[in-house]
Amino acid sequence: MNPLLTVQGLTMDFGGIRALDQLDLRIHPAEIVALIGPNGAGKTTFFNCLTGMYPPTAGEILLTRPGKAPKRINGLKPNRIAKLGLARTFQNIRLFPNMTVLENVMIGRHCRTHARILGAIFRNPATIREEEATIGMSFALLKRIGLADQANAFAKNLPYGAQRRLEIARALATEPSLLLLDEPAAGMNPQETLELNGLITSIRAEGLAILLIEHDMKMVMRLSDHVFVMDYGRKIAEGAPDEVRHNPAVIRAYLGEEEVHA
Ligand code: ATP
Repeated sequence: MNPLLTVQGLTMDFGGIRALDQLDLRIHPAEIVALIGPNGAGKTTFFNCLTGMYPPTAGEILLTRPGKAPKRINGLKPNRIAKLGLARTFQNIRLFPNMTVLENVMIGRHCRTHARILGAIFRNPATIREEEATIGMSFALLKRIGLADQANAFAKNLPYGAQRRLEIARALATEPSLLLLDEPAAGMNPQETLELNGLITSIRAEGLAILLIEHDMKMVMRLSDHVFVMDYGRKIAEGAPDEVRHNPAVIRAYLGEEEVHA
């Protein structure tokens, strides 16, 4: 099977700091890949390069869409990359706190809808139909993450774990083929983490690929097909979860313990 995402020689410099150094990575459709490494290893910078927030210093990022040739996405604007099928959540939750839960999901549809300012002002039938479809789909996503009964609440009033799930729903609203999750279990209690595991598994069952930054090793070992380990901007290991957890370089760099406990 052809990779969905191919990253070759990805390098990112911030002045004198080389945050990413010649990284190669492939992700296939419906694969869950975990990106792990100590604080400052470059994981979030990697996400920022993939999603167009930083133009990489060097390297290639290619995204394959069904029936089309791979497209080079380096340096494209984030909204263009979202439209091509790559969506993300953030380590520090970035919802619109004073908008409702439903509106936060609807915003994710923006890259797939056609109505713009004039449509919103004159409200022609096509705009109204599109808006109804957006509301319907956004509700369906809220049901899926268990927040339909909070649709009209302000996002800022949701508990932390629910805000994280809402971010995932907003990302899903863009209809991605690859979903990037930046520490989705951070701050969650064990029950919420268990539910999150179920949600991620169900997303994959629909054929989406997931790239996951996560410090919860139990979750990483349980969910991932493939683990990619970084330290100081470089790849130090990759492989199946069981291979990686016993890899001496990973143990040294990542935990300084005898093995990665999960
Ligand atoms: P954490 O697990 O703590 O989130 P991380 O693996 O995501 O860490 P990054 O946040 O990507 O690591 O940081 C990698 C390196 O790049 C660090 O040395 C960081 O200080 C540096 N860095 C990241 N963003 C910038 C920036 N905008 N300007 C300068 N340096 C940056």
